[in-house]
Order: sequence, then structure tokens, then C-alpha cells
Amino acid sequence: MTLTPEQALEQAALAGIHCLRIPTPFAVGRVNCYLIEDEPLTLVDTGPNSGKALDELQSQLAERGHSIDDLELVIVTHQHIDHLGLVEIVVEHSGAEVAALGAAAERLANFDEDAEAEDRFAVDLMIRNGIPEEVTVALRSVSRSFRAWGSQVTVTKPLADGEEIVFRDRTLRTIHRPGHSPSDTVFWDEQRKILIAADHLIAHISSNPLISRPLDGSTQRPQALVTYIESMRKTREMPAEIVLSGHGEPIVDHVALIDDRLAKHERRKEKIYGLIAERPRTGYEMAQAIWGNVAVTQAFLTLSEVIGHADLLLNEGRVREVDDGEAIRYEATA
Ligand SMILES: [Zn+2]
Repeated sequence: MTLTPEQALEQAALAGIHCLRIPTPFAVGRVNCYLIEDEPLTLVDTGPNSGKALDELQSQLAERGHSIDDLELVIVTHQHIDHLGLVEIVVEHSGAEVAALGAAAERLANFDEDAEAEDRFAVDLMIRNGIPEEVTVALRSVSRSFRAWGSQVTVTKPLADGEEIVFRDRTLRTIHRPGHSPSDTVFWDEQRKILIAADHLIAHISSNPLISRPLDGSTQRPQALVTYIESMRKTREMPAEIVLSGHGEPIVDHVALIDDRLAKHERRKEKIYGLIAERPRTGYEMAQAIWGNVAVTQAFLTLSEVIGHADLLLNEGRVREVDDGEAIRYEATA
């Protein structure tokens, strides 16, 4: 029997996992952080670095009889600032340990340099894919202004893929599920069949497979959507009953949700193939053909989306990249 999202939240709460909805200044709205009442007392994600988020975190912890000082462990699910901006402040107050995927630790520790490098990577990718330079300049200043909501994070408990975090009353298995970001990590309570999934799966919106620098420091452009689809297929096979998401409501039928997302990507892939079959196009031209002139803040997102689908076609041998030195165009092979 499938639970309703409300019942799923209740069941999670009975298992000591409480959803704290922390405000963000971003279009996505509130971020879900999870308080795990166990030993150690644990917070999964913190919300962004803002006074408003800190106030809400404090008051929502207080409703459960805790203060920030009581926290013993903070788990970071991935590298995005709406999830981790408050980590350092929480640690200053509490002295909590910080657990995150070990492969991401160095990047998390060097937040400012990493954000700069990420922006350079994105600008280069955009220009190579035909986005006008003035759009990239505007996007870069938006990105800089967002950075205040982030923070560096010192990881004291680096986690390996597959590693177990042992609490008094439960064990969570660390599972790397890259795609939405390279560092996406989910936490699996096999006994209770609860998956804490953050932005790997979101019920009401499709998680964007944003193209981001690989964690291993290589400079090759990653195939973020290809990676994300592989990750979703693995999660599909898990016997989860409740998937606790980084935004919105819990997911109670992850198989149906994943099947729906996979079908959607399949349709979009064919639509993009149709555009490429008409004539060779850059990523920017494909994005414009689908969405028209989007807001500057959406430019990188929509580019990630079309390149992701072009990667699927590339791997199937149906399209190829042609680089004329100025920009990359995709053309059909048949
Ligand atoms: Zn995210």
C-alpha cells in the first residue's frame, strides 16, 4: 500500500526524522533539512547562509526541544549553496562534526576558489556552445551575488561511497548518486526503507542535471544527464518506501516518478534529435528553438538540459559534434 506524502512525513517523524523547511532567496523556495533525533543528534543539510534561514532553523529546532548548540553531526548532501550555506555557522555554535562525500571535501573547503573556477568553466562552456558573451557576463555577476548565501565547509568525517554511518538506533548507508550535481549523496536506512535523497529526486520538479566540473579535477566536460539517468536507474531498483527530498513533499512511489522522468527525457531527446536533423545547431540554438529567449539566469540551466540530451544522442551514434573553432554544432549522422 502506498502512503500519502503526509503519512510518509508522519512515519519519518515516528522514526525520529523531522523535516525542517528552511527559507531560501532562490526560485526553488524552501529547502528541506532533516533533523535526526538519535545519537549523534544530526542535521542533514542546513539551508543557505542568511539571517532568516538561521532564525528559522533555530526556531524549528526549538519546537523539537533542541538548539543549534546541541547538534553533534551535520551531514551535507551535495555542493549547492541552498543546502550548505549555514554549515560553518552551525559548527561554530555546536562544534558538530561535518560528514560529506570525501571526494567533494576539497571543493567544499575551498568554496570561493571553487565557485570562481565553476563560473569560469560555465562561461567557457556557454561560449563554446554559442551563447553570446554578454549573456555570460550578466550570468557571472548574478552568480557572484548569489555566493554570499554559500560558505566554505570543513568536512571532518569524509564519507566513502557505500560507507555506513552508525547511530544508536539506526544505520545510514552513504550512496553516491551524481547527476544533479557531481557530489549528490543519498543516505539509505535499509531497515526502515527510508531514503534521504536531497535533490537527487524531487516530486514536483525535475532535478536539473547541471553540467559542473568533475570532482576528480579532470577538465573533461562531464555528461551530467547521462550520469543522472544512470543514477536514477540505480535508485529505481531500491526497495524504498519513503524518499525524503531536498525540496517539496516526500516521494512515496519513486519507481513511478523515475519512470515518468525517464519517459520525459526520452521524449525530449527525440525532440532535440528532430531539431538537429533539420540542420546542424549549437546548444544555444537548440535551447532557443525550445524555450525562446529565456532569462539570463536560465541560460546555463537550459544549455545543460539540451547538451545533456545531445549527449544521449551522441552516445547512441545518432549525432556528432562538429567544432568549427568558434562553436560546437551538433549534426545528425544519418
Ligand atoms: Zn541542488
